This record gives sequence, structure tokens and C-alpha cells, in this order.
Amino acid sequence: MAIAGTPSTTMRQLPVSLASRHVAVIGAGAAGLVTARELRREGFSVVVFEQGDQVGGTWVYTSRVESDPLGLGPIRATVHSSLYRSLRTNLPRECMGFRDYPFVSRDDPDRDPRRFPGHREVLMYLKDFAREFGIAELVRLETEVLHVGLVEDSKWKVISRKSGSDEAGVDEIFDAVVVCNGHFTEPRVAEIPGVNKWPGKQIHSHNYRVPEPFQDQIVVLIGSSASGADISREIAAVAKEVHIAARTFVDGTLGKQAGYDNLWLHPMIESVCEDGTVYFLDGSFILADAILHCTGYKYDFPFLETDGYVTVDDNRVGPLYKHIFPPVLAPWLSFVGLPCKVIPFRMFELQSKWIAGVLSNRLMLPSQQEMMEDVEAFYSSLEVSGTPKRYTHNLVDYQNFGCHFAVRVQ
Ligand code: FAD
Repeated sequence: MAIAGTPSTTMRQLPVSLASRHVAVIGAGAAGLVTARELRREGFSVVVFEQGDQVGGTWVYTSRVESDPLGLGPIRATVHSSLYRSLRTNLPRECMGFRDYPFVSRDDPDRDPRRFPGHREVLMYLKDFAREFGIAELVRLETEVLHVGLVEDSKWKVISRKSGSDEAGVDEIFDAVVVCNGHFTEPRVAEIPGVNKWPGKQIHSHNYRVPEPFQDQIVVLIGSSASGADISREIAAVAKEVHIAARTFVDGTLGKQAGYDNLWLHPMIESVCEDGTVYFLDGSFILADAILHCTGYKYDFPFLETDGYVTVDDNRVGPLYKHIFPPVLAPWLSFVGLPCKVIPFRMFELQSKWIAGVLSNRLMLPSQQEMMEDVEAFYSSLEVSGTPKRYTHNLVDYQNFGCHFAVRVQ
């Protein structure tokens, strides 16, 4: 990061006066809330657009699911959160607080004091945070952003309307937009030869809430992520059999899983057949009732129009300098929260401090060309290391956790 005074050729030169800086934040999840706080600390006028009826984003659990259990239908009514009812955090609370507002357990019988608390406790923490820093009053609830696009004079037009309504939408002009819309809503599903004729039930973990629908069934669960691990064990308590199909696994771990008499680990699915059979890559097969895809999500910005300066290609959002700033549009458009396999809340806080500092002229970005070269060098390094494009924002190998990990005991 360059300090103020370094020459820059961004889209529009930053004026010295900040008096009129008007910034839109899209989304009031953890990222949008902390971004709004950092922007307000710089003295900007901030509007946070939130389509839901409360702040908290992902942490607003709902038992509602989408009409298409795979979450693929383009005109389905979308449910934002992917939480299942039993979800507890997979990070200890010490790693989930913002730096100056730790996520400490409260002496209150209505709160969850555990170190890896249930999802409601995280929502309560985010609401406490919004109240403590006066962010709630910046948020326009039930207001869906339909369009964000550049207008003349390098400003941004944001069109929004009351969520779920057919209104045409209201136009407003902003100096800058920070996108914080989350990336755990649009499912990615596994491509399985023969699946179109396979007669069983298919569902993505986005639409999984409770295990009961799988009572006495034979279930194949694809994926070995945190959600996959949680859900497979939860389903095993009610299902007849659970078979996990994973792309990666530790040698010697295939087969029946210790501690369970109805849970198996397999290599990936090879194909499925009309008679309900599921074949795995090692030649083994089973007759299954359901396939549960715990296969992750796609980045999606249906409202964003950037004249091609930002695209999503095989889950790479780019080009973005340090996963935040599109070089040509920086700093007037930025993204908070894209990286995954990170300590999310801390990262959101640091990203938003940087954005706020740049917008207020305290910090300076490198030139457009330097940012673009940096992005290209990063992409080349991914290519050289054989990292697929879809892992561009996976920072598991980069983050210094700086936080002592503890193991969650159920
Ligand atoms: P979100 O929380 O998704 O918020 C985005 C907001 O934008 C939403 O409120 C949404 O309604 C709004 N929005 C979207 N589009 C529009 C629009 N067009 N107009 C207006 N508003 C819009 N993280 C942890 O730290 N610990 C955990 O244990 C953990 N467990 C997880 C378990 C699961 C199953 C999942 C899916 C995620 C988990 N995470 C966990 C990651 C979690 O997503 C982040 O912690 C964080 O909540 C993401 O915040 P966000 O603000 O980026 O996105």
C-alpha cells in the first residue's frame, strides 16, 4: 500500500475536500456493517442497502428453503442464508470479533456462552455491534438493490426498491460504492454423468436445514468442507446410510468411518443410472435415495454493471487489486469479503479500513497500471502453481491466522 503523495492515475482524481463524499454499501451482513462503521468514522455520508428485514446477513437463520432444492432455477425466489438449524461456529469466538469489539460471552441467560456458539449468538453479536456504533440507523432495511452502474462524471447510480415489490425503483447518485453482498447464496453443483435421468432427490446444502427429511434413506453427500462434515454426521443419526463422495481425502481414510456404523467415505461419483445406482470412481456402487451437494457457491453480482471492467469467470472476480479494488474503477468501486478460507470478520474490518482510508485520501493506491501488473503477476503465480481459476479467492495458504485455534467439541 502506498502512502498519500504517491502519484496515482485512477479513474478520477481524489479531491482534497471530502465534504460531499456519499457512499453506498450493498448489504448489511458482517462485511457491510463494519464497512459502514469505517466509512462513517472517516466522516462520510453512508447508506447501507439491505434487502432483508434485519441486519446480520448469513447469520439470520430461516427455516425457509427455495422452491428448487438445488437452488438453480433462475427465477426462483432466493433465500439468502445457507445456515442449517444446528449450526455452531467453526471458529472460536476469539477469532470472530472485530478488533475493538470482541465477541465475548455475555452474562445473560438468553445468550449462548459457548466458545463455538450457535448461529443465533453470532446474529445477536452483530446486532449489538450495529447498535453500539450507530450503524443500524444507516441501514435501509427491505430495500433491494436492482442496479449499480457508472454514470457521467464517474459517479455511481444505484437503483433500489422495496424488497419483493414490483416498483420501478428509485435512482440515487453516489460517489463510491462498496459491494458487501456475500457469496454463500448461489449454489455450485457437481456435474454428474447421467444425473438428468437419475430418479432420486437432489438438494444443495444451501437448502438443507434439518436432517428429518432423510429419515431411513440412503444418502450420498458430495464434498468434504466444514458444512459437508457437519451435515453428514447430523444426517447419519437418522438416515439408513450416508456415503460421502470427496475429491480429496487423506490416504487410508476411505471406507467405513470410525465411530459410525452407517457412514462411509468414497472417492468422487463416477456416474449415476436410471435405476437409482450411484457409481464411485473406485468401481464401488450403491442404490441411493438422495444426493446432497455440499459443493460450495458462486460469486454473483446480478445488480452490478461495470462496462466489463469487473467480470466473474469460473468464480474469479476480476481483475481486482488485492481482491478489493478493480484497477480502472478504484477506489470508487470496491468489494469487501470476497476471499474465502479466512478469518472473515477480521478480514472485513481490515479491508474496509483500507477502503475508507483510500477514499478519504489518507492512503493512496498504486497507479492503475501498477495495480493491473500486480493482479497479472498474481494470476500468473496461480497458473504456475497449477491452482485452478475457481480458487483465485481462496486464501488458505496466505493468511497468517494470528489467532490461537481451538478444536470444537460437540
Ligand atoms: P452476508 O452475511 O451474506 O451478507 C450479505 C448481505 O447482503 C445480506 O444481508 C443480503 O441480504 C444482502 N444483499 C445481497 N444482495 C443484495 C441486494 N441486491 N440488495 C440489498 N441487499 C443485498 N464465518 C465465520 O466467521 N465463522 C463461522 O463459523 C462461519 N460459518 C459459516 C457457515 C456457513 C454454512 C456459511 C454459509 C458461512 C459461514 N461463515 C462463517 C462465513 C460467513 O458467511 C461470514 O462470516 C459472514 O457472515 C459473511 O458476511 P458478508 O457480510 O460478507 O455476507
